Amino acid sequence: MSASRRGATAVTIVGAGPVGTLLALLLAADGQRVRLFERRADPRTGPAERGRSINLALAARGLAALAQAGMLERVRPELVAMRGRQLHDRGGGGPLLPYGLRPDELIYAVDRARLNTVLIDAAARVPLIELQFGRRAVDVDPDDGRLSWRDAGGTVVTEEPAGLVVAADGAGSALRQALQRRGLLQATEDPLAHDYKELHIPALAGGGWPLEPHALHIWPRGEFMLIALPNPDHSFTATLFLPALGRDGFEGLADPAAARAFFAREFADALALIPDFDAQFAMHPQGKLATLHCWPWHARRVLLAGDAAHAIVPFHGQGLNCGFEDCVLLARLLAQGSDSQSACMQFERQRRANTDAIAAMAIENYREMRATVLAPDFAARKQLALELERRFPGRFIPRYSMVMFHAEIPYAEAQRRGALQEHVLDALLAARAGADSAVAARLLEEAGL
Ligand SMILES: Cc1cc2nc3c(=O)[nH]c(=O)nc-3n(C[C@H](O)[C@H](O)[C@H](O)COP(=O)(O)OP(=O)(O)OC[C@H]3O[C@@H](n4cnc5c(N)ncnc54)[C@H](O)[C@@H]3O)c2cc1C
Repeated sequence: MSASRRGATAVTIVGAGPVGTLLALLLAADGQRVRLFERRADPRTGPAERGRSINLALAARGLAALAQAGMLERVRPELVAMRGRQLHDRGGGGPLLPYGLRPDELIYAVDRARLNTVLIDAAARVPLIELQFGRRAVDVDPDDGRLSWRDAGGTVVTEEPAGLVVAADGAGSALRQALQRRGLLQATEDPLAHDYKELHIPALAGGGWPLEPHALHIWPRGEFMLIALPNPDHSFTATLFLPALGRDGFEGLADPAAARAFFAREFADALALIPDFDAQFAMHPQGKLATLHCWPWHARRVLLAGDAAHAIVPFHGQGLNCGFEDCVLLARLLAQGSDSQSACMQFERQRRANTDAIAAMAIENYREMRATVLAPDFAARKQLALELERRFPGRFIPRYSMVMFHAEIPYAEAQRRGALQEHVLDALLAARAGADSAVAARLLEEAGL
Protein backbone atom coordinates (compact mmCIF):
# COMPACT_ATOMS: atom_id res chain seq x y z
CA MET A 1 0.00 0.00 0.00
CA SER A 2 1.42 3.42 -0.96
CA ALA A 3 2.24 6.11 1.57
CA SER A 4 -0.58 8.20 0.10
CA ARG A 5 -3.14 5.46 0.66
CA ARG A 6 -2.10 5.25 4.29
CA GLY A 7 -3.06 8.93 4.45
CA ALA A 8 0.54 10.11 5.03
CA THR A 9 0.47 12.85 2.40
CA ALA A 10 -1.87 15.74 3.01
CA VAL A 11 -2.22 18.03 0.02
CA THR A 12 -3.53 21.58 0.12
CA ILE A 13 -4.74 22.91 -3.22
CA VAL A 14 -5.22 26.64 -3.70
CA GLY A 15 -7.78 27.41 -6.39
CA ALA A 16 -10.94 25.38 -6.96
CA GLY A 17 -10.93 26.12 -10.67
CA PRO A 18 -11.24 23.16 -13.01
CA VAL A 19 -7.60 22.10 -12.52
CA GLY A 20 -7.56 22.36 -8.72
CA THR A 21 -10.88 20.57 -8.38
CA LEU A 22 -10.04 17.75 -10.79
CA LEU A 23 -6.72 17.24 -9.02
CA ALA A 24 -8.53 17.04 -5.67
CA LEU A 25 -10.87 14.38 -7.08
CA LEU A 26 -8.00 12.30 -8.46
CA LEU A 27 -5.99 12.51 -5.23
CA ALA A 28 -9.00 11.67 -3.08
CA ALA A 29 -9.75 8.68 -5.31
CA ASP A 30 -6.27 7.47 -4.35
CA GLY A 31 -7.12 7.81 -0.68
CA GLN A 32 -5.40 11.14 -0.01
CA ARG A 33 -6.83 13.80 2.25
CA VAL A 34 -7.11 17.09 0.37
CA ARG A 35 -7.93 20.66 1.39
CA LEU A 36 -9.18 22.87 -1.41
CA PHE A 37 -9.20 26.66 -0.92
CA GLU A 38 -11.09 29.00 -3.23
CA ARG A 39 -11.28 32.80 -3.13
CA ARG A 40 -14.76 32.99 -4.71
CA ALA A 41 -18.07 32.09 -3.13
CA ASP A 42 -19.46 28.61 -3.75
CA PRO A 43 -20.59 28.68 -7.42
CA ARG A 44 -23.42 26.27 -6.62
CA THR A 45 -25.14 28.92 -4.57
CA GLY A 46 -24.04 32.24 -6.14
CA PRO A 47 -24.93 33.90 -9.46
CA ALA A 48 -22.72 33.21 -12.51
CA GLU A 49 -20.29 35.95 -13.55
CA ARG A 50 -21.82 37.80 -16.50
CA GLY A 51 -19.85 38.47 -19.67
CA ARG A 52 -17.09 36.11 -18.55
CA SER A 53 -18.68 32.83 -19.49
CA ILE A 54 -15.66 31.42 -21.41
CA ASN A 55 -16.81 28.64 -23.62
CA LEU A 56 -14.06 26.05 -23.96
CA ALA A 57 -13.21 23.32 -26.43
CA LEU A 58 -12.49 20.05 -24.67
CA ALA A 59 -10.61 17.39 -26.62
CA ALA A 60 -9.08 13.96 -26.06
CA ARG A 61 -6.64 14.97 -23.33
CA GLY A 62 -9.27 16.68 -21.23
CA LEU A 63 -11.80 13.92 -21.80
CA ALA A 64 -9.29 11.24 -20.81
CA ALA A 65 -8.53 13.07 -17.56
CA LEU A 66 -12.24 13.46 -16.76
CA ALA A 67 -12.76 9.76 -17.46
CA GLN A 68 -9.87 8.86 -15.16
CA ALA A 69 -11.54 10.82 -12.36
CA GLY A 70 -14.86 9.09 -13.09
CA MET A 71 -16.34 12.45 -14.13
CA LEU A 72 -16.92 12.06 -17.87
CA GLU A 73 -20.50 10.85 -17.64
CA ARG A 74 -21.39 13.62 -15.16
CA VAL A 75 -19.93 16.24 -17.49
CA ARG A 76 -21.35 14.78 -20.71
CA PRO A 77 -24.76 16.55 -20.53
CA GLU A 78 -22.84 19.85 -20.61
CA LEU A 79 -20.98 19.02 -23.85
CA VAL A 80 -21.90 19.90 -27.43
CA ALA A 81 -19.96 18.00 -30.12
CA MET A 82 -18.23 19.98 -32.88
CA ARG A 83 -17.05 18.11 -35.95
CA GLY A 84 -15.30 20.88 -37.88
CA ARG A 85 -14.68 24.53 -38.58
CA GLN A 86 -17.58 26.38 -40.17
CA LEU A 87 -16.07 29.38 -41.95
CA HIS A 88 -18.03 32.58 -42.59
CA ASP A 89 -17.02 35.04 -45.29
CA ARG A 90 -18.35 38.61 -45.34
CA GLY A 91 -21.42 37.39 -47.19
CA GLY A 92 -22.11 34.82 -44.45
CA GLY A 93 -21.21 31.76 -46.55
CA GLY A 94 -18.28 29.37 -46.31
CA PRO A 95 -17.33 25.70 -46.08
CA LEU A 96 -17.42 23.36 -43.10
CA LEU A 97 -13.95 21.84 -42.85
CA PRO A 98 -13.97 18.60 -40.85
CA TYR A 99 -11.44 18.41 -38.01
CA GLY A 100 -10.56 14.77 -38.34
CA LEU A 101 -10.77 11.69 -40.46
CA ARG A 102 -13.00 9.48 -38.36
CA PRO A 103 -16.54 10.27 -37.20
CA ASP A 104 -15.42 10.07 -33.56
CA GLU A 105 -12.74 12.74 -34.08
CA LEU A 106 -14.77 15.51 -32.50
CA ILE A 107 -14.08 18.28 -30.05
CA TYR A 108 -16.64 19.39 -27.46
CA ALA A 109 -17.82 22.84 -26.44
CA VAL A 110 -18.40 23.32 -22.73
CA ASP A 111 -19.06 26.33 -20.54
CA ARG A 112 -16.11 26.66 -18.15
CA ALA A 113 -18.26 27.81 -15.24
CA ARG A 114 -20.70 24.92 -15.71
CA LEU A 115 -17.87 22.40 -15.97
CA ASN A 116 -16.28 23.86 -12.85
CA THR A 117 -19.57 23.68 -10.95
CA VAL A 118 -20.11 20.02 -11.88
CA LEU A 119 -16.59 19.21 -10.62
CA ILE A 120 -17.09 21.21 -7.40
CA ASP A 121 -20.41 19.53 -6.81
CA ALA A 122 -18.72 16.12 -7.09
CA ALA A 123 -15.80 17.17 -4.87
CA ALA A 124 -18.18 18.44 -2.19
CA ARG A 125 -19.58 14.91 -1.87
CA VAL A 126 -16.19 13.30 -1.24
CA PRO A 127 -15.44 13.02 2.50
CA LEU A 128 -11.67 13.16 1.94
CA ILE A 129 -11.98 16.62 0.30
CA GLU A 130 -12.41 19.64 2.56
CA LEU A 131 -13.69 22.53 0.43
CA GLN A 132 -13.39 26.09 1.71
CA PHE A 133 -14.76 29.08 -0.19
CA GLY A 134 -14.18 32.80 0.35
CA ARG A 135 -10.49 32.28 1.17
CA ARG A 136 -8.06 34.28 -0.95
CA ALA A 137 -4.52 32.97 -0.54
CA VAL A 138 -2.08 35.84 -0.19
CA ASP A 139 1.20 34.19 0.77
CA VAL A 140 2.90 30.86 1.32
CA ASP A 141 6.06 29.94 3.16
CA PRO A 142 7.76 27.39 0.90
CA ASP A 143 9.82 25.94 3.78
CA ASP A 144 6.92 24.64 5.83
CA GLY A 145 3.94 25.19 3.52
CA ARG A 146 2.39 27.70 5.95
CA LEU A 147 -0.37 29.41 4.00
CA SER A 148 -1.89 32.85 4.61
CA TRP A 149 -5.31 33.72 3.29
CA ARG A 150 -7.68 36.66 3.52
CA ASP A 151 -11.38 36.20 4.23
CA ALA A 152 -14.23 38.31 2.83
CA GLY A 153 -13.93 40.77 5.75
CA GLY A 154 -10.24 41.42 4.98
CA THR A 155 -8.83 39.46 7.96
CA VAL A 156 -5.61 37.60 7.16
CA VAL A 157 -5.31 34.16 8.71
CA THR A 158 -2.17 32.03 8.70
CA GLU A 159 -2.72 28.28 8.70
CA GLU A 160 -0.76 25.61 10.46
CA PRO A 161 1.87 24.09 8.17
CA ALA A 162 0.25 22.08 5.40
CA GLY A 163 1.75 19.15 3.52
CA LEU A 164 2.36 19.79 -0.15
CA VAL A 165 0.74 23.02 -1.36
CA VAL A 166 -0.37 22.94 -5.00
CA ALA A 167 -0.97 26.39 -6.46
CA ALA A 168 -3.81 25.97 -8.98
CA ASP A 169 -4.84 29.61 -8.66
CA GLY A 170 -4.77 30.45 -12.34
CA ALA A 171 -2.76 32.71 -14.64
CA GLY A 172 -2.49 35.54 -12.09
CA SER A 173 -1.41 33.12 -9.33
CA ALA A 174 -0.82 34.84 -5.98
CA LEU A 175 1.28 31.91 -4.81
CA ARG A 176 3.52 32.12 -7.88
CA GLN A 177 4.05 35.78 -7.03
CA ALA A 178 4.85 34.83 -3.44
CA LEU A 179 7.63 32.51 -4.66
CA GLN A 180 8.81 35.12 -7.14
CA ARG A 181 9.09 37.72 -4.36
CA ARG A 182 11.42 35.34 -2.53
CA GLY A 183 13.56 34.90 -5.65
CA LEU A 184 12.63 31.21 -5.96
CA LEU A 185 11.39 31.35 -9.55
CA GLN A 186 11.37 33.56 -12.58
CA ALA A 187 8.12 34.40 -14.33
CA THR A 188 7.45 36.67 -17.28
CA GLU A 189 4.31 37.21 -19.31
CA ASP A 190 4.45 37.54 -23.04
CA PRO A 191 1.32 39.60 -23.73
CA LEU A 192 -0.61 39.18 -26.98
CA ALA A 193 -1.29 42.48 -28.73
CA HIS A 194 -4.86 41.24 -29.25
CA ASP A 195 -7.60 41.33 -26.60
CA TYR A 196 -10.95 39.53 -26.58
CA LYS A 197 -14.59 40.18 -25.78
CA GLU A 198 -17.40 37.64 -25.45
CA LEU A 199 -20.88 38.14 -26.87
CA HIS A 200 -23.95 35.99 -26.37
CA ILE A 201 -25.92 34.78 -29.41
CA PRO A 202 -29.31 33.63 -28.07
CA ALA A 203 -31.28 30.62 -29.28
CA LEU A 204 -33.96 31.43 -31.87
CA ALA A 205 -37.37 32.54 -30.58
CA GLY A 206 -38.78 29.01 -31.00
CA GLY A 207 -35.76 27.52 -29.23
CA GLY A 208 -33.91 26.48 -32.39
CA TRP A 209 -30.20 26.83 -33.14
CA PRO A 210 -29.23 30.17 -34.73
CA LEU A 211 -26.21 28.57 -36.46
CA GLU A 212 -25.12 25.06 -37.45
CA PRO A 213 -24.82 23.49 -33.98
CA HIS A 214 -22.07 20.92 -34.44
CA ALA A 215 -19.30 23.23 -35.56
CA LEU A 216 -16.88 25.79 -34.27
CA HIS A 217 -17.77 28.90 -36.25
CA ILE A 218 -14.98 31.18 -37.45
CA TRP A 219 -15.22 34.54 -39.17
CA PRO A 220 -11.54 34.88 -40.20
CA ARG A 221 -10.55 38.38 -41.30
CA GLY A 222 -6.75 38.28 -41.48
CA GLU A 223 -5.71 40.50 -38.59
CA PHE A 224 -8.68 39.63 -36.38
CA MET A 225 -11.51 37.13 -36.08
CA LEU A 226 -14.80 36.25 -34.44
CA ILE A 227 -15.49 32.70 -33.30
CA ALA A 228 -18.61 31.07 -31.81
CA LEU A 229 -19.10 27.83 -29.89
CA PRO A 230 -22.46 26.15 -29.20
CA ASN A 231 -24.10 25.81 -25.77
CA PRO A 232 -26.49 23.02 -24.70
CA ASP A 233 -29.39 25.54 -24.48
CA HIS A 234 -29.01 26.21 -28.25
CA SER A 235 -27.36 29.58 -27.75
CA PHE A 236 -23.78 30.33 -28.83
CA THR A 237 -20.93 32.09 -27.07
CA ALA A 238 -19.09 34.27 -29.59
CA THR A 239 -15.64 35.72 -28.93
CA LEU A 240 -14.12 38.63 -30.81
CA PHE A 241 -10.30 38.62 -30.97
CA LEU A 242 -9.00 41.98 -32.09
CA PRO A 243 -5.87 44.16 -31.71
CA ALA A 244 -6.14 46.22 -28.54
CA LEU A 245 -4.95 49.39 -30.25
CA GLY A 246 -5.71 51.21 -33.49
CA ARG A 247 -8.76 52.43 -35.37
CA ASP A 248 -9.79 48.86 -36.26
CA GLY A 249 -8.87 47.64 -32.78
CA PHE A 250 -10.81 47.77 -29.51
CA GLU A 251 -9.46 51.29 -29.06
CA GLY A 252 -11.37 52.44 -32.15
CA LEU A 253 -14.61 50.71 -31.08
CA ALA A 254 -15.18 52.52 -27.79
CA ASP A 255 -18.26 54.24 -29.22
CA PRO A 256 -21.15 51.71 -29.62
CA ALA A 257 -21.99 53.14 -33.05
CA ALA A 258 -18.44 52.43 -34.22
CA ALA A 259 -18.63 48.88 -32.86
CA ARG A 260 -21.95 48.28 -34.59
CA ALA A 261 -20.66 49.69 -37.91
CA PHE A 262 -17.57 47.47 -37.62
CA PHE A 263 -19.70 44.37 -37.05
CA ALA A 264 -22.06 45.34 -39.88
CA ARG A 265 -19.08 45.52 -42.23
CA GLU A 266 -17.15 42.47 -41.02
CA PHE A 267 -19.63 40.06 -39.41
CA ALA A 268 -23.07 41.05 -40.69
CA ASP A 269 -24.58 37.55 -40.32
CA ALA A 270 -23.44 37.33 -36.70
CA LEU A 271 -24.63 40.86 -35.87
CA ALA A 272 -28.10 39.94 -37.10
CA LEU A 273 -28.23 37.22 -34.42
CA ILE A 274 -27.40 39.51 -31.46
CA PRO A 275 -30.46 41.69 -30.76
CA ASP A 276 -28.90 43.51 -27.79
CA PHE A 277 -25.51 43.97 -29.43
CA ASP A 278 -24.97 47.57 -28.27
CA ALA A 279 -25.61 46.76 -24.62
CA GLN A 280 -23.49 43.62 -24.68
CA PHE A 281 -20.58 45.30 -26.41
CA ALA A 282 -20.63 48.15 -23.91
CA MET A 283 -21.05 45.97 -20.80
CA HIS A 284 -18.92 42.90 -21.43
CA PRO A 285 -15.32 43.16 -20.28
CA GLN A 286 -12.35 43.28 -22.62
CA GLY A 287 -10.04 40.41 -21.68
CA LYS A 288 -6.26 40.25 -22.05
CA LEU A 289 -4.28 37.26 -23.28
CA ALA A 290 -0.68 36.25 -22.63
CA THR A 291 1.71 33.33 -22.58
CA LEU A 292 3.29 32.77 -19.18
CA HIS A 293 6.94 31.70 -19.06
CA CYS A 294 7.74 30.47 -15.58
CA TRP A 295 10.55 28.30 -14.19
CA PRO A 296 10.91 26.41 -11.97
CA TRP A 297 7.40 25.39 -10.95
CA HIS A 298 8.45 23.91 -7.66
CA ALA A 299 10.05 25.35 -4.54
CA ARG A 300 10.32 23.05 -1.55
CA ARG A 301 6.71 22.49 -0.28
CA VAL A 302 4.97 24.41 -3.11
CA LEU A 303 4.20 23.29 -6.66
CA LEU A 304 2.48 25.26 -9.43
CA ALA A 305 0.05 23.50 -11.79
CA GLY A 306 -2.36 24.42 -14.58
CA ASP A 307 -2.50 28.05 -15.68
CA ALA A 308 -0.55 29.13 -12.59
CA ALA A 309 2.49 27.37 -14.11
CA HIS A 310 1.96 27.65 -17.85
CA ALA A 311 -0.97 29.82 -19.03
CA ILE A 312 -1.17 29.97 -22.81
CA VAL A 313 -3.23 31.80 -25.43
CA PRO A 314 -6.50 30.00 -26.26
CA PHE A 315 -6.13 29.42 -30.00
CA HIS A 316 -5.48 25.70 -29.94
CA GLY A 317 -8.23 25.18 -27.38
CA GLN A 318 -5.75 23.38 -25.12
CA GLY A 319 -5.12 25.45 -21.96
CA LEU A 320 -7.48 23.43 -19.83
CA ASN A 321 -6.85 20.17 -21.66
CA CYS A 322 -3.18 20.68 -20.79
CA GLY A 323 -4.01 21.57 -17.17
CA PHE A 324 -6.06 18.38 -16.87
CA GLU A 325 -3.08 16.40 -18.18
CA ASP A 326 -1.05 17.96 -15.35
CA CYS A 327 -3.58 16.59 -12.86
CA VAL A 328 -3.36 13.03 -14.16
CA LEU A 329 0.44 12.98 -14.14
CA LEU A 330 0.76 14.63 -10.73
CA ALA A 331 -1.80 12.33 -9.14
CA ARG A 332 0.02 9.32 -10.61
CA LEU A 333 3.42 10.48 -9.36
CA LEU A 334 2.10 11.21 -5.87
CA ALA A 335 0.35 7.84 -5.78
CA GLN A 336 3.57 5.99 -6.57
CA GLY A 337 4.60 6.40 -2.97
CA SER A 338 7.82 8.35 -3.51
CA ASP A 339 8.13 11.51 -1.40
CA SER A 340 6.33 14.57 -2.64
CA GLN A 341 9.60 16.43 -3.38
CA SER A 342 10.74 13.89 -5.93
CA ALA A 343 7.21 13.64 -7.35
CA CYS A 344 7.28 17.42 -7.90
CA MET A 345 10.68 17.28 -9.56
CA GLN A 346 9.58 14.50 -11.88
CA PHE A 347 6.40 16.40 -12.67
CA GLU A 348 8.36 19.47 -13.73
CA ARG A 349 10.81 17.45 -15.78
CA GLN A 350 8.14 15.50 -17.64
CA ARG A 351 5.78 18.40 -18.30
CA ARG A 352 8.04 21.31 -19.26
CA ALA A 353 8.92 20.33 -22.86
CA ASN A 354 5.26 19.55 -23.49
CA THR A 355 3.84 22.76 -22.08
CA ASP A 356 6.45 24.77 -24.03
CA ALA A 357 5.37 22.94 -27.18
CA ILE A 358 1.66 23.61 -26.76
CA ALA A 359 2.37 27.26 -25.90
CA ALA A 360 4.18 27.68 -29.22
CA MET A 361 1.56 25.74 -31.21
CA ALA A 362 -1.23 27.84 -29.65
CA ILE A 363 0.38 31.05 -30.91
CA GLU A 364 0.85 29.51 -34.37
CA ASN A 365 -2.76 28.44 -34.43
CA TYR A 366 -3.95 32.02 -34.01
CA ARG A 367 -2.44 32.90 -37.37
CA GLU A 368 -4.00 29.78 -38.87
CA MET A 369 -7.50 30.56 -37.54
CA ARG A 370 -7.66 34.22 -38.44
CA ALA A 371 -5.54 34.29 -41.63
CA THR A 372 -4.18 31.03 -43.06
CA VAL A 373 -7.67 29.55 -43.41
CA LEU A 374 -8.26 32.27 -46.01
CA ALA A 375 -5.33 31.14 -48.19
CA PRO A 376 -6.46 29.54 -51.47
CA ASP A 377 -4.58 26.28 -50.76
CA PHE A 378 -5.69 25.92 -47.11
CA ALA A 379 -8.56 23.49 -47.70
CA ALA A 380 -6.49 21.51 -50.23
CA ARG A 381 -3.62 21.22 -47.74
CA LYS A 382 -5.95 19.99 -44.98
CA GLN A 383 -7.54 17.50 -47.37
CA LEU A 384 -4.14 16.25 -48.46
CA ALA A 385 -3.06 15.80 -44.84
CA LEU A 386 -6.21 13.77 -44.09
CA GLU A 387 -5.68 11.72 -47.26
CA LEU A 388 -2.13 10.90 -46.15
CA GLU A 389 -3.50 9.81 -42.80
CA ARG A 390 -5.97 7.55 -44.61
CA ARG A 391 -3.21 5.98 -46.70
CA PHE A 392 -0.52 5.84 -44.01
CA PRO A 393 -2.47 5.20 -40.82
CA GLY A 394 -0.41 5.67 -37.65
CA ARG A 395 2.50 7.00 -39.68
CA PHE A 396 1.02 10.31 -40.77
CA ILE A 397 -1.43 11.92 -38.33
CA PRO A 398 -1.96 15.65 -39.00
CA ARG A 399 -0.55 17.81 -36.21
CA TYR A 400 -3.95 19.23 -35.32
CA SER A 401 -5.27 15.67 -34.91
CA MET A 402 -2.28 14.62 -32.79
CA VAL A 403 -2.92 17.53 -30.43
CA MET A 404 -6.70 17.23 -30.29
CA PHE A 405 -7.47 13.51 -30.73
CA HIS A 406 -4.37 11.60 -29.61
CA ALA A 407 -3.87 11.98 -25.88
CA GLU A 408 -1.18 9.30 -26.05
CA ILE A 409 1.10 11.52 -28.19
CA PRO A 410 2.84 14.13 -26.02
CA TYR A 411 2.59 17.74 -27.22
CA ALA A 412 6.36 17.95 -27.85
CA GLU A 413 6.21 14.88 -30.09
CA ALA A 414 3.22 16.33 -31.99
CA GLN A 415 5.20 19.52 -32.55
CA ARG A 416 8.29 17.60 -33.74
CA ARG A 417 6.36 15.37 -36.13
CA GLY A 418 4.23 18.29 -37.29
CA ALA A 419 7.31 20.23 -38.43
CA LEU A 420 8.50 17.24 -40.50
CA GLN A 421 5.02 16.81 -41.98
CA GLU A 422 5.05 20.37 -43.27
CA HIS A 423 8.04 19.52 -45.51
CA VAL A 424 6.21 16.49 -46.87
CA LEU A 425 3.06 18.51 -47.60
CA ASP A 426 5.10 21.33 -49.21
CA ALA A 427 6.90 18.87 -51.45
CA LEU A 428 3.71 17.05 -52.50
CA LEU A 429 1.89 20.30 -53.25
CA ALA A 430 4.89 21.73 -55.14
CA ALA A 431 5.17 18.55 -57.23
CA ARG A 432 1.41 18.55 -57.77
CA ALA A 433 1.68 14.90 -56.78
CA GLY A 434 -1.47 14.85 -54.68
CA ALA A 435 -1.34 11.94 -52.30
CA ASP A 436 0.46 9.70 -54.82
CA SER A 437 1.36 6.78 -52.59
CA ALA A 438 4.81 6.06 -54.00
CA VAL A 439 5.95 9.70 -53.92
CA ALA A 440 4.42 10.24 -50.48
CA ALA A 441 6.03 7.06 -49.10
CA ARG A 442 9.46 8.23 -50.30
CA LEU A 443 8.97 11.69 -48.81
CA LEU A 444 7.82 10.25 -45.48
CA GLU A 445 10.88 8.00 -45.44
CA GLU A 446 13.18 10.94 -46.15
CA ALA A 447 11.53 12.99 -43.42
CA GLY A 448 12.03 10.16 -40.93
CA LEU A 449 8.30 9.68 -40.44
C1 LIG B 1 -11.00 33.32 -23.95
C2 LIG B 1 -10.45 32.00 -23.49
C3 LIG B 1 -10.76 30.85 -24.18
C4 LIG B 1 -10.25 29.63 -23.78
N1 LIG B 1 -10.54 28.52 -24.52
C5 LIG B 1 -10.04 27.33 -24.15
C6 LIG B 1 -10.36 26.14 -24.89
O1 LIG B 1 -11.08 26.19 -25.89
N2 LIG B 1 -9.87 24.95 -24.45
C7 LIG B 1 -9.06 24.86 -23.36
O2 LIG B 1 -8.62 23.72 -23.03
N3 LIG B 1 -8.72 25.96 -22.64
C8 LIG B 1 -9.18 27.18 -23.00
N4 LIG B 1 -8.88 28.30 -22.28
C9 LIG B 1 -7.94 28.16 -21.15
C10 LIG B 1 -8.64 27.72 -19.87
O3 LIG B 1 -9.68 28.59 -19.52
C11 LIG B 1 -7.59 27.66 -18.76
O4 LIG B 1 -6.46 26.95 -19.19
C12 LIG B 1 -8.18 26.98 -17.52
O5 LIG B 1 -9.29 27.69 -17.03
C13 LIG B 1 -7.10 26.86 -16.45
O6 LIG B 1 -7.64 26.25 -15.32
P1 LIG B 1 -7.00 26.52 -13.88
O7 LIG B 1 -7.87 25.78 -12.94
O8 LIG B 1 -5.54 26.27 -13.94
O9 LIG B 1 -7.14 28.11 -13.68
P2 LIG B 1 -8.48 28.97 -13.53
O10 LIG B 1 -9.54 28.45 -14.40
O11 LIG B 1 -8.05 30.39 -13.71
O12 LIG B 1 -8.92 28.74 -12.01
C14 LIG B 1 -8.18 29.28 -10.95
C15 LIG B 1 -9.04 29.23 -9.70
O13 LIG B 1 -8.28 29.73 -8.60
C16 LIG B 1 -9.05 30.70 -7.90
N5 LIG B 1 -8.09 31.64 -7.31
C17 LIG B 1 -7.36 32.59 -7.95
N6 LIG B 1 -6.59 33.24 -7.09
C18 LIG B 1 -6.81 32.68 -5.87
C19 LIG B 1 -6.28 32.93 -4.58
N7 LIG B 1 -5.36 33.88 -4.38
N8 LIG B 1 -6.72 32.18 -3.54
C20 LIG B 1 -7.67 31.21 -3.74
N9 LIG B 1 -8.20 30.94 -4.95
C21 LIG B 1 -7.77 31.66 -6.00
C22 LIG B 1 -9.93 31.32 -8.96
O14 LIG B 1 -11.06 31.95 -8.40
C23 LIG B 1 -10.30 30.10 -9.79
O15 LIG B 1 -11.37 29.40 -9.26
C24 LIG B 1 -9.40 29.55 -22.65
C25 LIG B 1 -9.09 30.70 -21.93
C26 LIG B 1 -9.61 31.92 -22.35
C27 LIG B 1 -9.24 33.16 -21.57
